Amino acid sequence: MDKQEAKKKIENLIQLLNKYGYEYYVLDQPTVPDATYDEKLQELEKLEAAFPEFVSESSPTQRVGGQPLDKFHKVEHHVPMLSLGNAFNEADLRDFDRRVTQLAQEPVTYICELKIDGLAIALTYEDGKFVRGATRGDGTIGEDITSNLRTIRSVPLTISEKRTIEVRGEAFMPLHSFLALNKEREEEEEMVFANPRNAAAGSLRQLDPKIAASRNLDLFLFGYGQWEAEEIGSHSDRLNYLSELGFKINPEWKRCETIEEVIEYVAHWTTERPNLSYEIDGIVIKVDNLQQQAKLGFTAKNPRWAIAYKFPATEAVTKLRDIELSVGRTGVVTPTAILDPVKIAGSTVQRASLHNADLIKEMDIRIGDTIVLKKAGDIIPKVVRAIEEKRTGNETEFSMPKNCPSCGSELVHLEEEVALRCLNPDCPAQLQEGLIHFVSRDAMNIDGLGEKVIEQLFQAKLIKTIADIYRLKKDELLNLERMGEKSVQNLLTAIDASKTNSLEKLLFGLGIRHIGAKAARTLAVHFQTMDRIQQATYDDFIAIDEVGEKMADAIARFFSEEKVIALLHQLSALGVNMTYTGADHSSKAALFSNQTIVLTGKMENFSRNEAKELIEVNGGTVTGSVSKNTDIVIAGEAAGSKYNKAKELNITIWDEQQFKDAIDS
Ligand code: NAD
Repeated sequence: MDKQEAKKKIENLIQLLNKYGYEYYVLDQPTVPDATYDEKLQELEKLEAAFPEFVSESSPTQRVGGQPLDKFHKVEHHVPMLSLGNAFNEADLRDFDRRVTQLAQEPVTYICELKIDGLAIALTYEDGKFVRGATRGDGTIGEDITSNLRTIRSVPLTISEKRTIEVRGEAFMPLHSFLALNKEREEEEEMVFANPRNAAAGSLRQLDPKIAASRNLDLFLFGYGQWEAEEIGSHSDRLNYLSELGFKINPEWKRCETIEEVIEYVAHWTTERPNLSYEIDGIVIKVDNLQQQAKLGFTAKNPRWAIAYKFPATEAVTKLRDIELSVGRTGVVTPTAILDPVKIAGSTVQRASLHNADLIKEMDIRIGDTIVLKKAGDIIPKVVRAIEEKRTGNETEFSMPKNCPSCGSELVHLEEEVALRCLNPDCPAQLQEGLIHFVSRDAMNIDGLGEKVIEQLFQAKLIKTIADIYRLKKDELLNLERMGEKSVQNLLTAIDASKTNSLEKLLFGLGIRHIGAKAARTLAVHFQTMDRIQQATYDDFIAIDEVGEKMADAIARFFSEEKVIALLHQLSALGVNMTYTGADHSSKAALFSNQTIVLTGKMENFSRNEAKELIEVNGGTVTGSVSKNTDIVIAGEAAGSKYNKAKELNITIWDEQQFKDAIDS
């Protein structure tokens, strides 16, 4: 390659990688898989090594992470938060070992840790109290996200010694929380997060701590910045000590005496990775001895005493047999890839969503193509590209039909939507999906009424609307195939039991646009009865904290429809409960959900504002005076008249320790 060509190539790569970096670090919305980014970065590194005269300051090889957002206060990291050098295979690991032993001039012991796929966080404690938490940002300047980090249960607000210390770790979203969050966002027709890392980053970079609090984040510590306890001379001893202080350390770390052991550890986690309840994207290997670490030092961007082994992206190649269309509950028509069954990261995949017709066109994917399927950071497999070289000429281009595959009505694009919709309210596919949604677990949760049975009942014309479920008769059910006496009895009992569900289950089950399970709960708690919801107006809805314009508009419209009014009337006549009973706590009610709490006296560990903030992010309300509506009085030292009043009214009184235990639990 001549110089001119190399210069151009380097410039192009820098531009592309900086665009990817911005989308990933600043917007938390990557547009390409990490493996693609890593490949391009490696290409740039090689070119820069061959043509060092073209290395520029704006190159991603010279910088750590992204830029801090202006909406947060900035925090300076006195000890920079660096990135890590990468290893992609065994040879890279052996090279690392060779470099390290040569520079250290003596044998080294390594610590292997899981590389949690979240975002790096610095936590500062002063005299044992948590005072500040920040993102890595560009490594030198991060964002102050203290109030969001306070909502993570595994971040202790006080530690067991009155130390001043700055520790570092990875905040992440466990897989079950990630899946639940995306499901909820899908229901509310909001954009889903590409992977748990972006979901964690997106949650922590919100100005409202209530959002972070609702996202069930977690945090493992893996390191430290400024540290007064210099007496501890190895990384492994420091990890143990941090654990004693009350921090959560990932338990899977291991000391390895040789690079062979490191390679074994890497191999072990390459296969065990799918069994973890959180995502990891590699293994971090660190020199254990801190004196050796100091001797090895740093490059501009990375420590020389550590390296990150990155797992290869999990890819599989298979054939695209067909593209099927499915009509969802809200009329959205989604193309789904029907694949030759293929194993990827431990599970067999036969179907994958292709999202919308524009995407299929953009990727030029044709029926009959050999395609690449990827699971990289994402749990849901994605079709990433067609392998053009494998085309035989028999592939067919896909075009979206003009009419609904279920009812034949014309499909339309609503403004600003990529999706095509069927607008026919009587479309059988939509009705059926609506019924499936109504009986699903987060809605009315009717055991025995799965997708198949709903389909069967719908085809047999026994049910068309939700109310019909409550009109089902034993005799007509017994006439159906595969329905014995016992299963019919169980089914009817389950249907009957669902009548007593609390209001939020019914509200969610009705399938109001933009109203997911959480929003339904908020509405139920706020209004308490269906009657009050029906009488409420747009202004009443928008006045609720968690309800935005889109939601308020959708609810108001929904309840003004004649058909809905009639349906609710019928459901009520059939004995379905229309009030909030608070009986369901399955969606993990916040610690102080709906409780009114009064603070009195002085606490040792929390200022009044901190305590108030903690109660609020955990769903409670803090008021100034004790009345019979008070649920708990939290009394610090020298509590006075409020304490006496609480005693008088027989209200639960907690001391500071009880409050602390509840928050930490
Ligand atoms: P890195 O890969 O250099 O690793 C450093 C980070 O690892 C630390 O900051 C920390 O957050 C984390 N970590 C997790 N567990 C750790 C442990 N036990 N010990 C130490 N650190 C641990 O990370 P980086 O500098 O943030 O960025 C590179 C990564 O971001 C790559 O994976 C790259 O693919 C991805 N990226 C992707 C895109 C995209 O568009 N998809 C864009 C930019 C970057």
